[in-house]
Amino acid sequence: MTQYPIIVWLRRDLRLADQPALHAAAKTGRAVIPVFIADETVEQLGAAPKWRLGLGLEHFAKVLAGIGSRLILRRGEAGVVLKSLIAETGADTVFWSRLYDPDTIQRDTAIKADLGALGVTVESFNSHLIKEPWEIETKTGGYYKVYSPFWRTLRDKHVALPLTAVRQLTPPATWPASDRLDDWQLGHAMQRGAAVVGAHVNVGEARALDRMQQFLDGPVETYKERRDFPAEPATSGLSENLTYGEISPRVIWHAALGAMERGAAGAEHFLKEIAWREFAYHLIYNTPHIAKTNWRDGWQAFPWRADNEDAERWRQGRTGEPIVDAAMRELYVTGIMHNRCRMIVASYLTKHLMVDWRVGQAWFAETLVDWDAASNAMGWQWVAGCGPDASPFFRIFNPQTQQAKFDGKNRYLDTWLAEGHAQPDSKALSFYDAIPQSWNLAPNDPAPTALIALAEGRVRALEIYKSVRK
Ligand code: FAD
Repeated sequence: MTQYPIIVWLRRDLRLADQPALHAAAKTGRAVIPVFIADETVEQLGAAPKWRLGLGLEHFAKVLAGIGSRLILRRGEAGVVLKSLIAETGADTVFWSRLYDPDTIQRDTAIKADLGALGVTVESFNSHLIKEPWEIETKTGGYYKVYSPFWRTLRDKHVALPLTAVRQLTPPATWPASDRLDDWQLGHAMQRGAAVVGAHVNVGEARALDRMQQFLDGPVETYKERRDFPAEPATSGLSENLTYGEISPRVIWHAALGAMERGAAGAEHFLKEIAWREFAYHLIYNTPHIAKTNWRDGWQAFPWRADNEDAERWRQGRTGEPIVDAAMRELYVTGIMHNRCRMIVASYLTKHLMVDWRVGQAWFAETLVDWDAASNAMGWQWVAGCGPDASPFFRIFNPQTQQAKFDGKNRYLDTWLAEGHAQPDSKALSFYDAIPQSWNLAPNDPAPTALIALAEGRVRALEIYKSVRK
């Protein structure tokens, strides 16, 4: 066994429990150098996820310090940075957790070959998924294009128990230099929004585990029935932590299986939702074009409208459709939007306004703290009708019917809309503290008028769809 240090290249795995790369490195007893590399040649994050990543890194650096280690921060092309770190530290081994989008796969494959040629041992691990995309196959050895059989196959797989938490990491004799996180200015583009969204985020592994436990001790019981009601705390809220790897999906899977065995009514449905995330990765791995182009054949000529004034009103929460506007404001204030509302606003943009789903995808990439390339692309294409396992194009969500069904007492609207309220909710008011001043909006503005009559928008969308189908 060599005594050279091991570099653990951290990416979306900012945790100690069920963290295979750190676990394997710790087990060797050798010195371990945890490193995070900001590589903008492969990943350019939008304002909110970039800022939230910074919070995750700041937190995880403290966690590592608590077990006698450090987080080394470097910027640049990852392959170049790693080679330089190897030269500086004498490390002969690099571990990392695998990711599945095409750009990252291409980069990581090249780095693996490059370092291997230099005699460096490289090992990658699965920390981000319950089962990796190639572990779930159809009977004929292909990939799934439809969720339900994917779910059944995943459900029947053996899922290894989570690894124990890393408790100690041996430091190297000398630490390599690290950038200062503040110098990276990851929150720069958030401007004044950071203070507002900051009140809603839940950073780090300990909080993620608490959040999971609280959910499994209570709301999971009624998850199946209540998960679509946006004013209720009926879902787990774990997407933010899953995005940065602050909790392991395998930990969630086994905890939910435990809840199911105890008889928790909604636990199986919760597992099914976790499986949607897995399905999104299955798709982005097997059909990488899902991230950027209409997934379905025959859609390339679909006449989506380009970004325009209507889309700007949608971004600003001023479409005049109350539930759409409430949801867009929830997004701006919290960095999160309820799943039911994500479907409603996505349907409204792509169907009533006929705006290209990529315009919406780009805004979500800018504003969501749980932004995830795989789930986002799948979600948009599912709603727009051009994706795999899509909601058919002719199924057009009526925002008013949706609101009556899922927010009949206006609790969600009253939380997020200020106009027309003598004493708006503090959350509705905080929207005005978060938005750019250039939007020039105030709580006592008159309520926005509707961009388009819903019936008219629906007919327009169906006519275009029919003409394209011919
Ligand atoms: P829960 O209901 O508690 O579900 C548990 C977990 O299951 C979630 O944390 C998530 O990891 C997974 N999950 C649940 N529903 C879905 C789903 N429909 N698709 C994929 N995974 C799911 N999710 C993201 O994590 N990042 C995104 O960028 C994202 N963009 C979306 C865009 C659109 C247009 C749509 C319709 C959905 C999108 N989703 C995205 C999926 C979903 O809205 C969120 O995962 C969910 O709202 C997170 O809340 P929660 O953690 O309380 O979920």
